Amino acid sequence: MPTLTDLATYCDQRTRRAAFKDAPGAFNGLQLANDGRVTKIGAAVDAGVIPFQKAVAAGIDFLIVHHGMYWDMPRPLIGPAYTRVATLLHANCALYSNHLPLDGHPQLGNNALLAQQLGLKPSRPFLVRDGEAIGNIAPSRLTRAAIRRKLESLYPRVIAIEYGSAAPKAVAFCSGSGYSAVPELLASGVDTLVTGELREDCFNRAQEEKLNLYLCGHYATEVHGVKALAAELSKKFKLPWAFIGTENPF
Ligand SMILES: [Zn+2]
Repeated sequence: MPTLTDLATYCDQRTRRAAFKDAPGAFNGLQLANDGRVTKIGAAVDAGVIPFQKAVAAGIDFLIVHHGMYWDMPRPLIGPAYTRVATLLHANCALYSNHLPLDGHPQLGNNALLAQQLGLKPSRPFLVRDGEAIGNIAPSRLTRAAIRRKLESLYPRVIAIEYGSAAPKAVAFCSGSGYSAVPELLASGVDTLVTGELREDCFNRAQEEKLNLYLCGHYATEVHGVKALAAELSKKFKLPWAFIGTENPF
């Protein structure tokens, strides 16, 4: 039977956790231990009382999340913050969080998997932060209409802002919030971005700079990495795994 240390160490090494400088509150890695035994792996996008309750009800005792529970710490463990921790502790469920490493990973990353969904192969880095690429850019022969059709077939809510080229030669990918990616598009030689969510002022920018922006949902674009990591762990350690979805519409 694999131990908690086996799984956490594998996740750390496979995602090159230590190489990424993330927001301090991201606190990538093991966020809460259990008694050391793991029988079922879970994957969820967000730390939260409801995903934790669903996970423990499904018998999960090693839960991987993309957005962990320390973003706004330190704060007292009372109210929902207490309920989160208590839910996991009472059910002997460990919590492992992995944010930017699981956006940028060339096989398991949200952005690699977004490109793969469009049948594209990333060829260069995008959004390099402290020496590590979070996003990627893939050469493309798809028309803008084909990109839009494909995304609309994959995601429940797609916002398409199309002022760029009708047949972009490359597509940039940035899962989750793409706000910091928009100003870097033209300098990176690309006018088309597939992302999760943006802010209001990006519409004007798209018109002025002639950009194509496809918003597919922050949550929806970040289910891929945690699922891929959980599936790989499941295979490697011969444990069952399950995805814990929520109704997050953002
Ligand atoms: Zn995110």
